[in-house]
Amino acid sequence: MTSTTAYAAHAPKAPLERTTIERRAVGEFDVLIDIKYAGICHSDIHQVREGWGEAIFPMVPGHEIAGVVREAGAGVTKFRAGDRVGVGCMVDSCRTCANCEAGLEQYCTGSGGKVETYNDTGKDGRPTYGGYSRTMVVDENYVVRIPDGLSLDVAAPLLCAGITTYSPLRHWGAGPGKKVAIVGMGGLGHLAVKIADALGAEVTVLSQSLRKREDGLRMGAEHYRATSDPKTFEELDGTFDVVLSTVSAALDYSAYMSLLKTDGALVNVGLPEEPIALDLFSVVTGRKSVAGSNIGGIAETQEMLDFCAGHGIGAEIELIRADEINEAYERVLDSDVRYRFVIDAATI
Ligand code: NAP
Ligand code: ZN
Ligand code: ZN
Repeated sequence: MTSTTAYAAHAPKAPLERTTIERRAVGEFDVLIDIKYAGICHSDIHQVREGWGEAIFPMVPGHEIAGVVREAGAGVTKFRAGDRVGVGCMVDSCRTCANCEAGLEQYCTGSGGKVETYNDTGKDGRPTYGGYSRTMVVDENYVVRIPDGLSLDVAAPLLCAGITTYSPLRHWGAGPGKKVAIVGMGGLGHLAVKIADALGAEVTVLSQSLRKREDGLRMGAEHYRATSDPKTFEELDGTFDVVLSTVSAALDYSAYMSLLKTDGALVNVGLPEEPIALDLFSVVTGRKSVAGSNIGGIAETQEMLDFCAGHGIGAEIELIRADEINEAYERVLDSDVRYRFVIDAATI
C-alpha cells in the first residue's frame, strides 16, 4: 500500500477537503499512474450530494483522469513507464458475462456489475477512490492510451463526457443526412456538439438561453435555439432523427418528443435526481423511442480517443487548483461552466 494525497468529501453535501488515502500495492497486472489532470463531471456532484441515493464516504470523486504511467506490474503487456494514459468511470468488471465479452463492460451483468472508479467497492473489498488525487493503481485492462495529438488537460474530460456522448451518437447513427439536437451546452453537451459535427450530422443546440450561442456555432453546431422561447418548440416540431439530452435536471420530456421525426429517438444521458414524467401519447404518435445510454466500453473509449485526436477534438476547459473545487461545484450547479472544470493534480 502507498499513501497519496486526495480531495475528499467526508459526508453527504460536505465540502471537499485535502486528505490522505491509501492505494493498493501494484499487482501483477496493475499500472501505477501519476495523475496529471482530473475533470469535474456533474455526476461527481450528484454523488457527493447523495442525489442518486446512499453513497460511500469518505468519497474521492473523479472519473475523468489523465496521467502518466510511473510503474507497471510484471504481467502488464499494454503499458510501460512514461505512457500517457486515461481512466474513466470503471476500473473493473466481471470479464466473463456476455456484455463484458462483447466489449460492453459498462453493462456488466456479473455479480455486482462493473466496479466504478469511486463510490463503489473493489474486488479486494475496499472502497474505490477516484481521480481527485495524485496517484492511482488500476488494472491495465481498464486503462486507455491518450494519443500523442491530445494534450492531457483537454483529454481528461473525454474519459467520461467524451465517451458518454460518442457511444450513443454512434449507436443511434448520427452521421451525414441526420439531424441531431443536443440538449444542454455543458460538459457533456459541448463535446456532443463537436463529436456529432465530426461524425457528419447536422447539429442543433437546444440550450436554456442564447448566452453560449457563439461558442456552440464555433464548435460545430449549425443552429442554436433557446428552449426558454416557446417558438423553438413550434418551429422545430418533427425535425430531428435524434435528440440527445445531456441535462442534469428533469425536462418536459413530452415537449422534446414532439421535436422528433417519425421513428426518432430521444436519448438520455443526463441523470436527473428525481423520476421523470412522460405523456406516452407523445411516444406512440410517430413510433418514437425513449432511450438511454451509460458511458461506453473500454475498446470504444479507446476508439473515441483516437477519433477525437484525429479530428482535433478536446474539451474546452477551465483549469483550476484543487482548493477551488467547491467553488467550481457551485458554478456547475448554476450552469456557469465553460465548458469543463479540470483540476491540476499538481495542486492536490
Ligand atoms: P453540466 O456540465 O452541468 O451540463 C448540464 C447542462 O444542462 C447545463 O450546462 C445546462 O445547459 C443544462 N441544464 C442544467 N440545468 C438545467 C435545467 N434545470 N433545465 C434545462 N437545462 C438545464 O453537466 P454534465 O457534467 O455535462 O452532466 C450532465 C448530466 O449527465 C448529469 O446529470 C450527469 O450526471 C449525467 N452523466 C451521465 C453519464 C452517463 O453515462 N449516462 C455520464 C456522465 C454524466 P444550458 O446552459 O446550455 O441550458
Ligand atoms: Zn462523468
Ligand atoms: Zn461482466
